[in-house]
Amino acid sequence: ALAVCARAMHEQGEFAGSVLAYSDVTEMVNALNAREDFVSSVSHELRTPLTSIIGYLDLVVDDEETSRLPGHLVNALEVAQRNAERLLLLVADLLTTASGTMHLQRSETDVAELVRVALDSARPRATAIGVDLDCDCEAELRASVDPDRISQVLDNLLSNAIKYSPDGGKVTVRSRKEDGNLVLEVEDTGIGMSEADQRDVFTKFFRTGQVKKAAIPGVGLGLVITKSIVEAHGGRISFSSELGAGSTFRVEIQLETRRSRQD
Ligand code: ADP
Repeated sequence: ALAVCARAMHEQGEFAGSVLAYSDVTEMVNALNAREDFVSSVSHELRTPLTSIIGYLDLVVDDEETSRLPGHLVNALEVAQRNAERLLLLVADLLTTASGTMHLQRSETDVAELVRVALDSARPRATAIGVDLDCDCEAELRASVDPDRISQVLDNLLSNAIKYSPDGGKVTVRSRKEDGNLVLEVEDTGIGMSEADQRDVFTKFFRTGQVKKAAIPGVGLGLVITKSIVEAHGGRISFSSELGAGSTFRVEIQLETRRSRQD
């Protein structure tokens, strides 16, 4: 049950009385859990046939015989392959958000290398839309983190910074150690967000009106996942943004537990 208590005071500041309201929220909680279970099992069921479709498409696209097909057929196969991969990523995102708890596999990681790999894989997308990709990154940066998950954080922030800069511009990645923290920043000079929209960016499926109107692809799960990964590492994510001027997302993860002075 959810209890709400309100105290009423006289104008002179004396206590006048209080009202206590109870509401049984069991049904609401059950309905929410059932929805998460549903999303989770549907995602699992979708993954198997989708992986098989991608496997066969890869086989056909990579086959020598295929290169002898007319260009428009090769193109159609490649479009199908790209979209099947997008669908698999979406299914993976749905599973991650529905499963609730995030399990990390930490290991001593070369974070500088993860940043380089993320930049390399984002570069073709940036170049295609005329976005300048810049890096102000420490060459030596190691931390005990989950490398796959931190790559996912970098990929999500970078891909947002690029796709929400539709008219070109500049995206800068910064990575460094600062006060015992690993700090990762992704700054863009893109469309930015209004103050009202900024309140909802970490809400599942939220997308701003401008990106929906501009038909920029996305589903509104990337930042939810990014935040849960960062928080599972005991870190925090923050951002600043200005409509029409750009956004900067910042991730901070503690590198090592600092000992207190008494130790
Ligand atoms: P998606 O990009 O798939 O829509 P996200 O969860 O990554 O989902 O982002 C949620 C929304 O927040 C986006 O749809 C967009 O409206 C806004 N947003 C996120 N990153 C940026 C950015 N760098 N610049 C402007 N808007 C952004």
